[in-house]
Amino acid sequence: MNFIGDYFAIGLVIILCMFYFDRNHMWTTSSKYFFASLIFTALTAAVDILTGALLVQAYVPLWLNITANSLYFIVNIITTSFIALFLFTKILEHVYDDHCMQMAKRGLFVIFGFFLIMVFANIWTGWMFSFDADNLYQRGPLNALGYIMVLAQMVLVLICYTRNRRNASSIMRRVLLRTFPVILVCIIIQRVFPDIMLNGLLISFMDTVLFLTFQGHHQGVHNLTKLNDRHRFFKEMEAHIAANAKDQIFLISIKDFGIVNEKFGHLFGDEALYQFAFSLERLIKAGTAFHMNGTVFALTIPYTTQAAAEEHCSRLLGFLDDGISCKHEHLQFDYVIVEYFVDEKEKDAAELYEKLEYASATAYAHKQKFITYTSDIGDKMHRTHYLIERLKHIDAEHGYEVWYQPVKNLQNDAFSSMEALIRLREKDGSLISPCEFIPLAEQTGLIHSLTWFVLESICKFLSKQAALNKVTVSFNLPMIQLLEGGFTTKLNSIVDRYGIDHERICLEFTERELLDNFKKTKEVMQTLVADGYIFYLDDFGTGYSNFHRMLQLPFQFIKLDRSLTQSKDLVRTLTKLFHDMHLKVVAEGVETLDDVKEMTACSVDRIQGYYFTKPMDEEKVIAFYQKHPIE
Ligand code: C2E
Ligand code: CA
Ligand code: CA
Repeated sequence: MNFIGDYFAIGLVIILCMFYFDRNHMWTTSSKYFFASLIFTALTAAVDILTGALLVQAYVPLWLNITANSLYFIVNIITTSFIALFLFTKILEHVYDDHCMQMAKRGLFVIFGFFLIMVFANIWTGWMFSFDADNLYQRGPLNALGYIMVLAQMVLVLICYTRNRRNASSIMRRVLLRTFPVILVCIIIQRVFPDIMLNGLLISFMDTVLFLTFQGHHQGVHNLTKLNDRHRFFKEMEAHIAANAKDQIFLISIKDFGIVNEKFGHLFGDEALYQFAFSLERLIKAGTAFHMNGTVFALTIPYTTQAAAEEHCSRLLGFLDDGISCKHEHLQFDYVIVEYFVDEKEKDAAELYEKLEYASATAYAHKQKFITYTSDIGDKMHRTHYLIERLKHIDAEHGYEVWYQPVKNLQNDAFSSMEALIRLREKDGSLISPCEFIPLAEQTGLIHSLTWFVLESICKFLSKQAALNKVTVSFNLPMIQLLEGGFTTKLNSIVDRYGIDHERICLEFTERELLDNFKKTKEVMQTLVADGYIFYLDDFGTGYSNFHRMLQLPFQFIKLDRSLTQSKDLVRTLTKLFHDMHLKVVAEGVETLDDVKEMTACSVDRIQGYYFTKPMDEEKVIAFYQKHPIE
């Protein structure tokens, strides 16, 4: 008997195992299945050697031969079952519904159970194999049943794949396309030359193909820097959190790396990142570096003592401040570092990463280079999440109200205009300031529906209140929304639906940024002015980047910010200037009688402020105008 094929199979498995553990392996479900299939492949070969060896010994009793051969059949099916399980987990990797996996396991179990029964039945029937009087191995009519079982498993895998094609990776498709024909050919060769092509060998080939496609693919490794990638980060953190391990984590974002690419070219940029990663990985012995994406890296270090943690921190900061050398160039990067200590409060790695990213964004916003995550930051993050959740439903049922602040017109001494200001009410009756949620609404794009809610509320209110029909109402609008397709149409449709004159609706811009699309903005504004609407330039004096251009837009009113109204001379000069340009001036934030007198002396046209009234809800506005009617 020649066992060369079996020895070869065992050797192959040992090599695969060596490479397998070389990759600092994570025990996921699929990797467990793969490892099990490797072990059982070796076992298949070993049992084959055993049965072969027994067979040539004349003194071996019949029952031992039967047991060894039955065992061989069983080990075979267990091995292929593990391979099938591995394929299932890979196909269903991105399918969150567990149903398909359950079905697949059930299918495999049925095949396995059936085969087990047949192997036992064979002891009496001899359908698969038997031994003659001379103890010689005889193939029965169902000797190839094992292969039929493998085919059945393959069919299951194919069904699973076709049903989940959209979620399966392209690698999976390639594996199936390539390996199935190879298996078929191998089985045929096996049937023709049973002594050469042994099952153990055949299966070890299959293992190799799977290893090369899935494991050898450097999964979990970043293409460019060869550091662990973000998948690996998540998996590792998941395991650490589950094990309650204490870690010190740094999230390192290199800022403005685009400049390096622009100056030296992309290839140089890639090499610089590689150098950076290379040094980062070696910076702290106990640490593990990860390349999360783009120019964002993470470094995790097991926490031992506070002193050690501080030492890691200063080493990292020193490294970043020193910069790196790449092809005779010395590079220094601008960066943001978040330091984080894993505590027991994380639910999972996703939550941890969310905290890191939030802290990083906070540091960016405050132009900080280094930030240590504290529970305060966590509280702010939760508050942000809470507000964003609430911003998803902007309507009266969810606590949104539109309030109004009447503005005194000094020309006719009446409150002939109001500013609409949004309010968000909590269940306990308290109010959340728009200063808190408007910036979030702008960041998330939810400001669009907020603006339409405000406009609709204004129109509804005005249409019901005949006493207010001489009052105009202004509302706040981010300039970017003006450029959204169909803005004019939507504005007209709402205002017209409630039968409100366009002249009573005013738009206040709070835009402080340089206008990207000046021409388009001007066009839209001109159309709206022609339609009768009025424009206010809000918050004047809070730092416009392009004041000169702003004034080329068709505004009718300039609102001087509260910070300006404190300096009388400035207000007087500005008011004169604006009057010369045929613009009217509103002074904001007027709180005292002295302020009123001063602003009047500066000859501003209108005054808005707490001195007259704070913003009020609809009911109070009605009462206010009963006391201060417009003639
Ligand atoms: P803003 O447009 O400059 O609105 C004027 C703010 O000044 C209002 O604050 C108002 O209550 C307050 N104010 C009025 N008179 C005085 C005064 O005499 N003293 C002081 N200290 N403050 C005074 P509010 O309602 O908290 O709104 C804050 C900001 O939130 C607004 O500033 C505006 O930028 C934004 N905002 C409010 N409602 C909306 C809205 O419906 N849409 C948009 N996009 N932004 C809004
Ligand atoms: Ca305003
Ligand atoms: Ca303002």
